[in-house]
Amino acid sequence: SAGSGRYPADAPASEALFDRATAIVPGGVNSPVRAFRAVGGTPRFMVRGEGPWLYDADDRRYVDLVCSWGPLILGHAHPEVVEAVQAAAAKGTSFGAPTPGEVELAAEIVARTPVEQVRLVNSGTEATMSAIRLARGFTGRSKIVKFSGCYHGHSDALLAAAGSGVATFGLPDSPGVTGAAAGDTIVLPYNDIDAVERVFAAEGPHIAAIITEAAAGNMGVVAPRDGFNQRLAGIAHAHGALLIVDEVMTGFRVSRAGWHGLDPSEADLWTYGKVMGGGLPAAAFGGRAEVMSRLAPAGPVYQAGTLSGNPLACAAGLATLRLADDALYRRLDETAAVVGKLAADALAAAGVPHRLSYAGSMFSIFFTDADVVDYDSARTQQVPAFKAFFHGMLAAGVYLPPSAFESWFVSAAIDDAALEQIAAALPAAANAAA
Ligand code: PLP
Repeated sequence: SAGSGRYPADAPASEALFDRATAIVPGGVNSPVRAFRAVGGTPRFMVRGEGPWLYDADDRRYVDLVCSWGPLILGHAHPEVVEAVQAAAAKGTSFGAPTPGEVELAAEIVARTPVEQVRLVNSGTEATMSAIRLARGFTGRSKIVKFSGCYHGHSDALLAAAGSGVATFGLPDSPGVTGAAAGDTIVLPYNDIDAVERVFAAEGPHIAAIITEAAAGNMGVVAPRDGFNQRLAGIAHAHGALLIVDEVMTGFRVSRAGWHGLDPSEADLWTYGKVMGGGLPAAAFGGRAEVMSRLAPAGPVYQAGTLSGNPLACAAGLATLRLADDALYRRLDETAAVVGKLAADALAAAGVPHRLSYAGSMFSIFFTDADVVDYDSARTQQVPAFKAFFHGMLAAGVYLPPSAFESWFVSAAIDDAALEQIAAALPAAANAAA
């Protein structure tokens, strides 16, 4: 039945796997948003991918608009990436010693981005956590500023998110995050430069760093206002603090250099992940040599990893980046524009309130009439409308992020057949959302 018509509402093979998983894995998944809690229903267990397509355990075929939450700019199982990983695996999976591949991947990152030195890690969470430690070690200060609705992974200090109000000082967002761990985190509304000015006026000498997503993608896609990132750098530097720009999602996705290629800022540290691992676990943080050289063993700030710079991950990342030239980024831009317009036109035809929001080739649709500039406005969404839309698309073979507060991701593998399947799915899904 792959790829034709509407799939039945039940998915027997995925349901059986989810039942088994739920007994032995908390919530049945290894990362919460995969569980479909925000949209209801059974998560689809995926067994293989090919180009733009994902195949689930019931052998149903979907156009993939998640792309593993960003990494797969070339689509699934790109032959050159597969070959690079196979060749690396045949030579051994890990050495716990320096390898040529990690030097090449570091060189590729340094060539593309503003960073002078880079340290490889295994996840975006590690990258941002380590960048925060380095910023604290470098400045000798404790406090950090983050923005509500920005996600930087699940380390304690960065799980603090805003309550309401201009600034929420250190309210833990998850049981298990102690007040002490979150107490040095100041949470401000995204895109609100005045709030940043006020907090620095009051707390400036204690603030080690501001961390911001290069363009927000974890409350849905919200681009920074013109000049926002640049003004963050100016304020931080005026007070002796650092700016950390988190490009885990945008890096090597929206341009060769990531968001920096579209909207450069004078940040001190940048974090990367997702695309740079080509679908294997790899991430990085980097910046000026003056700051990075404080890391062990060059300096006193400790950071380490058994599998960091893993040869398979470096091979997958390098193979991906070598194919990520300007033509590929033009294709991603064009594909994102086409897919977004198809969806927005269908929602408009069905009379569903929505806002199509881009940051380069990252985009999402907010199911609201409001201008979305921050987390509060993002939360004006009609989540039930998104749920109905999501399930309409799923039943017609299009796999969207299972949450209204996530970016959609395209790959360069999206072809005419995939676009046709999206176009065919949209009218009924949009009507279901109306
Ligand atoms: N930073 C940003 C901007 C992200 O989008 C994410 C993950 O989605 C992370 C950090 C955390 O990365 P990871 O899931 O690899 O730990």
